[in-house]
Order: sequence, then C-alpha cells, then structure tokens
Amino acid sequence: MICVLLNFLCSYYILAGQASEHLESFRDHEQELLGWLFDRHADSAVGTLCGCPNPAATKTTRCYDCGYGPTCSECFIKAHQSSPTHWAEVWDADKGFFIRHDISALRSGYCISLGHSGLPCPSSLAEDPGVFFHIVDTNGVHCTRIRFCCCSGDGSNRAEQLMKARLFPATMRRPTMAFTWHVCHLFHILHLESKISTHDFIGSLRRLTDNTFAQDVPVSFLLCIVCRHAHDCRIHLLSSGLSCESGASS
Ligand SMILES: [Zn+2]
Ligand SMILES: [Zn+2]
Ligand SMILES: [Zn+2]
Repeated sequence: MICVLLNFLCSYYILAGQASEHLESFRDHEQELLGWLFDRHADSAVGTLCGCPNPAATKTTRCYDCGYGPTCSECFIKAHQSSPTHWAEVWDADKGFFIRHDISALRSGYCISLGHSGLPCPSSLAEDPGVFFHIVDTNGVHCTRIRFCCCSGDGSNRAEQLMKARLFPATMRRPTMAFTWHVCHLFHILHLESKISTHDFIGSLRRLTDNTFAQDVPVSFLLCIVCRHAHDCRIHLLSSGLSCESGASS
C-alpha cells in the first residue's frame, strides 16, 4: 500500500518537476506513515456503548466510504438512508478485524426503500421482502435488496422509480440491476481520457468490491455489455435532450 502511494506521488511530483525534494520528506517518515495506515484497521471505540436510544447497543460498524462511525448497525442504517451504497465495515470479534458488508446485510429483511428519501414506503407491506438487486456504484458491485414504492400502483414502474433515485436500470422490463449515475459518469470520463475498455472498467469495479477474491465477485461478461449499453443509452438520451433543448430555443 505504502509503495503504491509513493509511486503515485512520485509520478505526480516528476510531472511537477519537484520529485526529489518532496519524496525525501515522505521517505523520512515511512515507518510513521505505515503505522498510521495499519492503525485504521482497528478502532479502540469498538465494543463500547453506542449511546443511542437502545441502551444495550454497542459500537460495531463504521463506514468505509465517508468515515462515519463506529456506531451500532441500526445507527449506521439510519445515517445512510440517503447513501445506501456506502460499504459498512462490521467488526468481527472472532477474526479480530472489520469485514465489509452491504447495508442490507446489517439487519435481517432490510431493504433500500425508493420514493420516500430513504424512508420505508407507507403503502408497502411490512413483510414485503423486496427485490434482490445488483447496484453498481463507483465503489463496487452491491448485492442488495430494494423495496419499490407502492403509493401509486403496485411498484411495477421499476425503471421510473430507479431513474428518480439516480439509478440507471440495466433493462426496462422488471430490472434487477442498475448503475448509479456516478458510475456511468466515471466510465464516460475514463473512456474519454484513457480509452478504458468496458471489460477493464468492470474488472476495476470487481476489485473495488473485493480486491482479495475479485474473481468471486458476481460480475459476468453480460454485465460488461449491460454497463456499456447503459452508458451509451445515457449519453444518447442526454445528447438528444440537449439537441431538443437547443432546437427548441433556436
Ligand atoms: Zn458512509
Ligand atoms: Zn446506535
Ligand atoms: Zn410509497
């Protein structure tokens, strides 16, 4: 890890023409930097009381993406209703390290709710198990559960609800996979700047999901095609929208 960071900084400072001056200061503090990197793999607050209304709840869970926590899992869920694709790091007391989970794994039956700013839909049944769903975001592929809003129907307008939640559906008919707008935009920028292929981009997402067992991440070649298709569709829709707008205004 430290080598990767130093290599990155080295390339940056070589480009800036200031390599030796800046890199020396990092080499002088290499052991300290390593220590700080290892420190973040544990947390002395784990196991202490969470302090939320549940008097027995202890701090077990923190966020890999925004630095939230640690708190109990329920507090994590409450704090991430608007950012459900952040990875939860849950302390495993037996193994002695944090294990990364999707938010839906924190509570049995928990689903990401659409249509009510992350809050459960008042019209859907409490026992509704939701839909098993793949959400592809810039931080990896999430195997999760989504509960669609049933306030104006039976929740069959999945594509519309996904688009309103800034998720691009992989198909228009009963989608069970969607891409966040962020990941579509990231692919677009990387493709423009470095001509990254869809295959390589999906490989990167696989590693972001699990860099140790990347081959086990459930991403098939089909996803490559779907990702490319979603990206092309989004760009096509955006450009046709823009040309309609400019046509209307001219
Ligand atoms: Zn977070
Ligand atoms: Zn709590
Ligand atoms: Zn609703």
